[in-house]
Amino acid sequence: MGATAQTRVVIVGGGFSGIAAAKALHQSNIPFMLLEARDRLGGRTYTRQLDGKQYVDLGGQWIGPTQDRMYELAREHGIGWYDTYNEGKNLLDLNAKLRSYTGLIPKMDVLSLINIDYVLKKLERLARKISVDSPWSHPAAQRWDSISLEAFVRKHCWTRNCYKVVRAGLETVYACEVNELSLLHALFYIRSGTNLNNLLSIEQGAQQHRLEGGMQPLAEKMAEPFRNSVYLNAPVRCIRHTPSGVTVEAEGHIITTQRVILAVPPVLISAIQFSPQLPLRKNQLLQKMSMGIVGKVLAIYPRPFWRTDGFSGQVVADEHAPFQTLFDASPAHAEWGALMAFCIADRARDFFSREEAERRKLTLTTFARYFGEQAATPQHYVDHCWANEAWTQGCYAALYPTGAWTNFQDTLAAPVGPIHFAGTETSKVWYGYIEGAVRAGERAAEEVKNALV
Ligand code: FAD
Repeated sequence: MGATAQTRVVIVGGGFSGIAAAKALHQSNIPFMLLEARDRLGGRTYTRQLDGKQYVDLGGQWIGPTQDRMYELAREHGIGWYDTYNEGKNLLDLNAKLRSYTGLIPKMDVLSLINIDYVLKKLERLARKISVDSPWSHPAAQRWDSISLEAFVRKHCWTRNCYKVVRAGLETVYACEVNELSLLHALFYIRSGTNLNNLLSIEQGAQQHRLEGGMQPLAEKMAEPFRNSVYLNAPVRCIRHTPSGVTVEAEGHIITTQRVILAVPPVLISAIQFSPQLPLRKNQLLQKMSMGIVGKVLAIYPRPFWRTDGFSGQVVADEHAPFQTLFDASPAHAEWGALMAFCIADRARDFFSREEAERRKLTLTTFARYFGEQAATPQHYVDHCWANEAWTQGCYAALYPTGAWTNFQDTLAAPVGPIHFAGTETSKVWYGYIEGAVRAGERAAEEVKNALV
């Protein structure tokens, strides 16, 4: 039995979404308790300190144009941002051969280049037709929702090289195999993040900026004014509701309250016991939405030596390599150097099934192949797979498989009696991103405020 308490609102989940909801309630002087399962705030953002001043962002790290709430929050909390390094030669690792190029266009046969341009523009054109408010309402929605993104890509890629490059790029955007999500979800996701170019780019794109000191400290700073209302190590197990109120049972707490905001990934909503059960449609959708899988693999060096050698640190690699993409993840002012690889979907399932020593060896051999022998001897090696985390289960976000958008429409975000739903997966704008998490938390807080008056 836990301590009993009473409050007006319980927020479940201390990621950016739950914290944004809490911030909004705090500003309206509405009493609440925020229950977080982990021993830290930040959820899918996690800035791990190494030694001294070095740190790595193991989860969400970038912000970019149109993510207005993120820039406002950083400004409000006195956190600066800096440009992701984006100069010098990029590498394409294709068919076990390395090719270097500058700008956006890789060195490849002309037909494949034309084909890549065609496929990406076609995706973009279709995405522009989608309404983020109701992706299921387009006349072609049934058709787009009945096939996977893979089916679309295979149909429109005429050359093998085009298929390989497009696939690596899209796997990095969605953090899954392209056969694991519906075309309609892929289009919604593009539209939700403005456009495909924005999702793929550093300059003028979602990878443009990083926060100084890492992403998770912003979550901590946002929560400072209401720290007394935050309870860590408090996984919520059961939510009972009647017309007269709600009881939330968590490790160490039994709380009676008027409203609940659930700000956890869909797969973890299913792990909570509800009485009465969630409505049939909500339950069914929750069973269908599965998380992507991505791990970050980082090597830290005294300085970003590849820059001096004229390299940007960016790589796109086909399925022969262990990672889809690499980026320069060094801090502002390049006080030290960091190379960060995304290991996604089947490549992640393979890589993270290996022992750590083997993973490290494979990584450093790969990095040395790209950037020379210096890359083989980092100061630190760190890798992290989010699918292995009990309180996340996968990343970047949950995915709608074929049929889910058209069959279930706006079921996920719809309140159920006194229970409201936040989390990045309930956001129409920047679904899957931190910006989406914040907007969803603020929207759920607004619902609660309206319901309480
Ligand atoms: P979460 O952060 O998942 O928060 C949910 C919280 O609920 C967690 O803290 C969890 O511990 C807690 N919880 C779960 N179950 C319970 C329970 N039963 N009781 C109590 N607490 C519970 N986004 C970007 O914008 N830019 C990026 O560069 C970017 N890169 C990414 C890279 C990686 C490797 C990953 C993993 C994600 C990335 N993302 C990025 C996505 C971004 O991190 C997420 O969209 C965002 O952080 C989700 O926030 P959230 O609050 O909705 O959910």
